[in-house]
Amino acid sequence: MTTPVLLTFDMDAETLWTARDPESTNRPVWLSQGHYGPNVGLPRILSLLERYEVAATFFIPGLVVERYPAAVESILEAGIEIEHHSYSHAWSETLTAEQEAEEFQRGWDAIVSATGREPRGWRSPAGELTPHTVGLMEQFGFDFSSNLFGSDSAHFLADGDRTTEIVELPFAWALDDAPFFLYSNRLPGRSMSAPSAVLETWTLEYDGISQEDDTHFMLGMHPQVVGRPSRLWVLEQTIRHIQEAGTGEFLGCAGYAERVRPRLTDGHAGVGRA
Ligand SMILES: [Zn+2]
Repeated sequence: MTTPVLLTFDMDAETLWTARDPESTNRPVWLSQGHYGPNVGLPRILSLLERYEVAATFFIPGLVVERYPAAVESILEAGIEIEHHSYSHAWSETLTAEQEAEEFQRGWDAIVSATGREPRGWRSPAGELTPHTVGLMEQFGFDFSSNLFGSDSAHFLADGDRTTEIVELPFAWALDDAPFFLYSNRLPGRSMSAPSAVLETWTLEYDGISQEDDTHFMLGMHPQVVGRPSRLWVLEQTIRHIQEAGTGEFLGCAGYAERVRPRLTDGHAGVGRA
């Protein structure tokens, strides 16, 4: 049995900074870190994915979809699907129920308008769900969610005591580029990791996960973070490690969610349910 490998990229651009502090709209140097994602990191990432012929998934806030049409076009030309990542990247727990619903609607409209395709999956911009989030995901008809950390396997997403039909594809901070590399001179004490340390983490995680049944290996990355040469080296070496092992299959999230759904419906892999 091969291990599904899901390379995911959250292209937040400057919303990563403006959502955390609205004052950052007046800080061009700070914002320029976000511009680096679609303008510089993205072309390098697409080139790498093409060279190794591997699938990926992008989660993009609607505001970024609207601001960077050429970047969106290049992702679509590469045959990569764009999924929902809110509209403005606002932290969900700061929003009223109405504001959260508006974030869903505007993000949805931006993606449909730019791509002609309805997004199938949703990832939180804030690493958290509110009491309204799962209901909104159902209302919009999402097939999958990629938010929780409670398992290394796909499972149906719970809403309180109720199990939904949304497939949750969990990930982990250890498999995300931001904890290792995201730096801000306004967060004192935070430093950056050596690329070699991240490669060691990701390949050891893959080796462990791929030895177990019904698991998947999901990396969560950001073009403004992983798009630098030293960090792309980590991604490239990880891809090579998986391809040389011959045990992985690179898939888009929507395709994997549909593939795994019958197994979950039969009740063979409902582990780790929240
Ligand atoms: Zn994000």
